[in-house]
Amino acid sequence: MADAPNVHPRADWNARAPRRPATVLNRAPDRIIVHHTDTANSDDGSLAHAYGLSRFIQDFHMDKRGWDDAGQQLTISRGGIVMEGRNRSLKSVRAGVLAVGAQVLHHNEHTIGIENEGSYMTKEVPDRLWASLVEVCVWLCREYDLTPSDAIVGHRDYNKTACPGDVLYARLPELRRSVGARLDGAPKSSQGKPRPKPRPKPRPEPFPDDQGPGQMPDFPGFPSFDDFN
Ligand SMILES: [Zn+2]
Repeated sequence: MADAPNVHPRADWNARAPRRPATVLNRAPDRIIVHHTDTANSDDGSLAHAYGLSRFIQDFHMDKRGWDDAGQQLTISRGGIVMEGRNRSLKSVRAGVLAVGAQVLHHNEHTIGIENEGSYMTKEVPDRLWASLVEVCVWLCREYDLTPSDAIVGHRDYNKTACPGDVLYARLPELRRSVGARLDGAPKSSQGKPRPKPRPKPRPEPFPDDQGPGQMPDFPGFPSFDDFN
């Protein structure tokens, strides 16, 4: 898709196998949850750094939280690199269905979560991250038929948490407007190769949803190789 972001699949960052495949619900989510990782505000925009972040989050969620896999469906580095998080997420978005994550307590079965690298209580969001966040939200709204003004929310809208930070949270209205403008100005059918609107397809769900709740704060303790935030 010419208008879909470049999402690095799990194999790119050398993800571990999940303990169990993610539960896939035969429906679209109705909310996009914006998170921050609450990790260091690194200036390293490299792929290697981004992949390291994804591995760190997965290890943290599996080894410290005891979950089956990384909790969030998508991750964006401060350099703007977009990565698949939880297993089955990328295929599920493309199919218009939801691979259930563990990213927002009590609301995992109707939401998809984006982890944005950094801590945004006081610091500005890097332009490259912001541009990718807009792209990802445009993509998700198209695939899932969502209206950005309703769909895009912050983690703190559902749980008692500072996530995604005051600065990023304050920019959610701008995010909704930017995504809405993109959707209005560039309908999917006018760009790239047209394709039928994805409809949820029935699929087997052989694995129980025993995923732990998505408590946050998200990732305390990410190695602070740069400790200036
Ligand atoms: Zn969060």
